[in-house]
Amino acid sequence: MELSQRIARSRPLATTAMHGRVDAMKARGEDVIDFSIAISHFPAPDSVLQATRDALSQPALPYTTVGGDAGIRARLAAKVVRENGIAATADEVIVTNGAKQALYQALYVMADPGDAVIIFKPHWPAYVATCKLLGLVPVLVDLPATITADFLASLPPARILIINNPHNPTGGVLSGDEIERIAAWLKRTGTRAIVDESYEKLIFEGAHISLAARPDWRDIGIVTLYSASQSYAMMGWRAGFAVAPAHVVTAMETLQGPITAAAPMLIQLALAAAFESGEPAAMLADYRQRRDLVLDLVHGLPWLTMHCPASGPYLWGDISALTMDSNQFAEQLLSEHSVALMPGEALGAPGFIRIGYISDDIATLRRGVQAIIRFGNARYRSR
Ligand code: PMP
Repeated sequence: MELSQRIARSRPLATTAMHGRVDAMKARGEDVIDFSIAISHFPAPDSVLQATRDALSQPALPYTTVGGDAGIRARLAAKVVRENGIAATADEVIVTNGAKQALYQALYVMADPGDAVIIFKPHWPAYVATCKLLGLVPVLVDLPATITADFLASLPPARILIINNPHNPTGGVLSGDEIERIAAWLKRTGTRAIVDESYEKLIFEGAHISLAARPDWRDIGIVTLYSASQSYAMMGWRAGFAVAPAHVVTAMETLQGPITAAAPMLIQLALAAAFESGEPAAMLADYRQRRDLVLDLVHGLPWLTMHCPASGPYLWGDISALTMDSNQFAEQLLSEHSVALMPGEALGAPGFIRIGYISDDIATLRRGVQAIIRFGNARYRSR
């Protein structure tokens, strides 16, 4: 059967495709170390597991309103008031199957085909892929070290600016000044914003400031995305939510209704419990130790420059001193050493590699990084 032209033009997400490839290799019995995406080795918080068990002992789990059960939405609104300083009410919250679904729905209701969406690169691949699925035009702009007023003034006109704070893959966290400048620019230009705060709990250094923590967030048109995947090690639970002005939430429900209806009630309960469980301190300490271990191992390599990330489960390395591009690097590393990572090409930055370092035990992490070092050293010598 012939497929629609729409989907025939599309490709699977580079990140999920690489992960799927690794899964298939593992299913064939191959010993692969997977740094391609970040799947935490931590369990979900105890309170989430308990809330789930309690829910399963109820006689039934009903359908809920598309945007989520009213009580759950009120608890999530309380979370963003308490933790993010966003003055939102329950009808300004929509529960989704992960931030990915919220992103798709937000873009769908905020822009029309042909509209421009500014995305800073390097970028999470789903931003570009989702724009393309919706016929929006992703406009990729290099993310500067600091977001200045001059930089913002140089941006082309667009319907939407996507901000990822904390940032995948660099680990950057926006300062209060940067947030202020972005807000002023949005207001002046009438651009709306989607702010993805999926990594808000994974900050090692610096404070997280939400762009929507201001009384005029509705007028500016800010939609903020949250996810339990990374913040609470709940990748497979597919649990997230968005905070948006009420009419935007209603529009997102109109889209969500015929597709998935509400997120599963069980997941809604788990999501609310997760975001009430506070800071994942033990997880963060473990990630920090791993981050520092990898930085120690790669320190001083002439072909790899890796800055210490202020947040997140990734290390982002510059390999432009090698004569190979990062796609070749990733392919050859996988076939010769059975270690998978994400080539920067997939994130809009050829010449870089991304290592997700939170999945396996420390010994495996060390073994994988040592294989990367051996591989890179050999390629560097034969330049
Ligand atoms: N946003 C970004 C930037 C991410 O990297 C991720 C995890 N890969 C997510 C959101 C999480 O999405 P989801 O809630 O759909 O798992």
